[in-house]
Amino acid sequence: MPNYDHIQQAAYTANMQLPKLGLVVFTFGNVSAVDRALGVFAIKPSGVPYDDLSPEKMVIVDFDGKTVAGNLRPSSDTKTHAILYKNWSSIGGIVHTHSTYATAWAQAQRDIPIFGTTHADHNTVDIPCAPPMSDSMIQGDYEYETGFQIMNCLKDRNLSHEELEMIIVGNHAPFTWGKTPEKAVYNSAVLETIAHMALLTEQINPQAPRLKDALIKKHFERKHGPESYYGQ
Ligand SMILES: [Zn+2]
Repeated sequence: MPNYDHIQQAAYTANMQLPKLGLVVFTFGNVSAVDRALGVFAIKPSGVPYDDLSPEKMVIVDFDGKTVAGNLRPSSDTKTHAILYKNWSSIGGIVHTHSTYATAWAQAQRDIPIFGTTHADHNTVDIPCAPPMSDSMIQGDYEYETGFQIMNCLKDRNLSHEELEMIIVGNHAPFTWGKTPEKAVYNSAVLETIAHMALLTEQINPQAPRLKDALIKKHFERKHGPESYYGQ
């Protein structure tokens, strides 16, 4: 049997960041870490409290959502991870949480507007809220369809998963991804911060304007452009 230690360790370390960052309570949330050469990923087991997790408990699953190694049941969101890995070959890690502020925007079925430079440092667009899933999707293979809902939303809006590494799913919660599991966790914390700030902004001024294009461009490019110089 191939050795899965490296992705089990990576998934474990990344999962343990979620409660530390205040992004999850109880057993909510899951992170996975992929090995492209082996065509599998390691993901948190279902229903195990964070304190009881260990690297060996991470379940190894293929891109069809089938368990390849491990005695525990993989996270109930496993098929969503599988479908995204299968279709987006450049991503190395995925995070799902029900973090409070990002989830609140998902429940309100609203995109998170780009109000400030914190948002623009990471993304040039509003964070999309994918529409709530249809009844037939919900009654079908729900977790698998959630993956399609995410991919279709980006497609409909002409957004690339390499440029935008976060989304909220209407009535549900956020999903983030990245080249590595650590980057996906980072994105999850950034999304929660942006969601919190946007809510406060609208409370203070319900008419707060969207960030102007010149600032969006400036902030994104100083961090990501060819001549990026940003480092805080
Ligand atoms: Zn969920």
